Amino acid sequence: MSGWFMRRRSWGAFFGYFFATFIVLEALVVAVGFQSYNKVIALKKDALIGNAANKLAVAELVLNNKIELINETLELLSHHSLVRDYLIRDTAGRRHAVEAHWVAILEAGLAYQKLALIDLTGQELVGSYRLEDGSITRLPSEEKSNWANSLEFSYVQQLGSDEKYYPPPEFREDEKNEPVVPLDATIRVFTPIEFASKKAGYLMLTLKADRLVARLRSLPQMVVGEPMMVSQDGYYTFHHDMTKIYGNRYPSRSHHKFQNDYPEAWATVKSQGVGTHSGVFTGDHATFVYNRVDPDRKFRKPFYLVLRISDNAVQLAAMEPIKSMLVTLSISAGLVFLLAIIVGGIGGGRAKAQHQRRLSQAMVESMSAVIVTDEQGHVQDVNPSFERITGYKETEIIGQLPDMLKSAEHKPTFYALMVKRLLKEGFWRGEVWCQLADARSHPMLVEIHAIKDKRGRVTNYVGSCLDLSEQKLLEVELREKSLRDPLTHCWNRRYLTELLKSELARQRRYGHPLAVATFDIDKFKSINDNFGHDVGDQVLVRCCDQVRRQLRRSDSLSRVGGEEFVIVLPMTHRDGAEILIERIRIKLAALLDEPRFTVSFGLTVALPTDDMDDLLKRADQALYEAKAAGRNRSFFAKINHTAEVHVSAELLQPEAGVPKKAQ
Ligand code: GH3
Ligand code: MG
Ligand code: MG
Repeated sequence: MSGWFMRRRSWGAFFGYFFATFIVLEALVVAVGFQSYNKVIALKKDALIGNAANKLAVAELVLNNKIELINETLELLSHHSLVRDYLIRDTAGRRHAVEAHWVAILEAGLAYQKLALIDLTGQELVGSYRLEDGSITRLPSEEKSNWANSLEFSYVQQLGSDEKYYPPPEFREDEKNEPVVPLDATIRVFTPIEFASKKAGYLMLTLKADRLVARLRSLPQMVVGEPMMVSQDGYYTFHHDMTKIYGNRYPSRSHHKFQNDYPEAWATVKSQGVGTHSGVFTGDHATFVYNRVDPDRKFRKPFYLVLRISDNAVQLAAMEPIKSMLVTLSISAGLVFLLAIIVGGIGGGRAKAQHQRRLSQAMVESMSAVIVTDEQGHVQDVNPSFERITGYKETEIIGQLPDMLKSAEHKPTFYALMVKRLLKEGFWRGEVWCQLADARSHPMLVEIHAIKDKRGRVTNYVGSCLDLSEQKLLEVELREKSLRDPLTHCWNRRYLTELLKSELARQRRYGHPLAVATFDIDKFKSINDNFGHDVGDQVLVRCCDQVRRQLRRSDSLSRVGGEEFVIVLPMTHRDGAEILIERIRIKLAALLDEPRFTVSFGLTVALPTDDMDDLLKRADQALYEAKAAGRNRSFFAKINHTAEVHVSAELLQPEAGVPKKAQ
């Protein structure tokens, strides 16, 4: 019982401590985790921005290098003697020499598409170009263009010595004059050819734009984000979605402007002054890293290289560190769980210990008398209930063996067995009659536990004694109740059965005499009829009271039917029984209270061969005969002499079947 209680209590405490620890520490882990998450994101973002700025710087450098390379190539060619010779005098040989040289140049530079010499009016004179299959050939005369009326040429004509002009790229267009996708853009570069500070013509180099912007295209693979090239007026000149570029040249795309898509970022980007090279703009959902590129050339306006890094992209990029952070966090959470179990265990244990202390306290204050002895059995301590229950003072018993509690109810072997069991099993429990200070023996429920140290050696014995006196009384009371007739308080048939069995056994074993009488109230029906059932009941009660008064302590009266009774008279011979029964009959008949009544008796004594039925049947037969003989009399049952050879003459005196006179 107490084990169950303690288990319940300690589990409750365990979960209390466990959850408290778990929640507090886990909240801490979550807070740290949240902070770490933000930190990881911020760090990743910083790293990405730094990386992006680097990539943009590299892209710009590469772009400028390419342009430098183109410019240098143009300068070399424009000053080349073959070109000058040709311009001085156009001969087939000189022309072929130029063309052959240029074929070699185009073969070396994979990005170059075409080289052409243009005269001062805009007419292409000589050139080489790359065919569809990639091979290089001389420019046929029918494909030589005239630039005279083009807008570009008006700019070209303004070029000073060694200046280069880069008109906007040309796109391969479809029938609707929309650029075809994938984008096929061509860039042209013009530079003048001079002799003695005098313009003699122009050199034109054509190259594929995709080669030039290859660096920009490859930026997404190098860094998280969307690379863009934005013109001074806010249009995209490069975008990962190529359908958005050159809104300024194609009306169907005019709404695609960096300016429109990211107005706040544009305001910052645009405000970037000359010389201040790069910058970062942090928007609500994205960060923009940008470079202002100043070509510092007459016909090239500044533009912007921009990388847009969305917050989602940062989170994606931070996935790896976040994953490893989550692993760390889950390990921490697991550790916290373990810690909470340990704390719960310790806390639960403490609660259990506290609970056990309380239990000990409860034992001290319990209703039981508690004795603590040393390993030899000398009393060390008793609780207050011990004094109250036993009547012995604490000072009388401390230091003594508790022998004073031994009573004469038990033999010395009983106590010896108790000690033997205690030494062997460390526990003993049983009912003991204890001699108390009032010199009387009291029934007690005694429980003795051996207390052992870590090595298993007995250090103490703790005994508790619960006084069973009241319980015993209650038991007796309950037992009596179950064996007595509620109306008359006579014994019932159940008790009579038990009693007769044991009395008959005793009679058989020891030859003790046993007499039994049955009686029945005469004409009881008429009492009921005349006075009512309740009065009839009162007659039954009065009758029994009177009969009991006449009986000895060892005699007993049982009610076996409505108004039929049995009297058992142990240790009684026939004559003694007859005298007693007659006295009772006369007494009842003499009662003056109304309604008056008489009783008839049938009497017999037990024979050695009798069982209960034999005995009662014989008595009933005698009663029947008494009734038949006129009632208010007692008859001794006739004994069958042939069957009862062992019956002593004493038992059968006087002669059976002789009625006593009614009085
Ligand atoms: P007899 O002299 O032959 O015994 O006549 P009688 O009227 O007593 O006849 P009998 O013994 O056969 O009748 C018993 C009656 O007792 C029957 C029943 O109504 C009555 N009786 C039985 N138990 C109770 C009881 O508990 N209370 C009361 N008031 N009457 C009872
Ligand atoms: Mg009767
Ligand atoms: Mg009857």
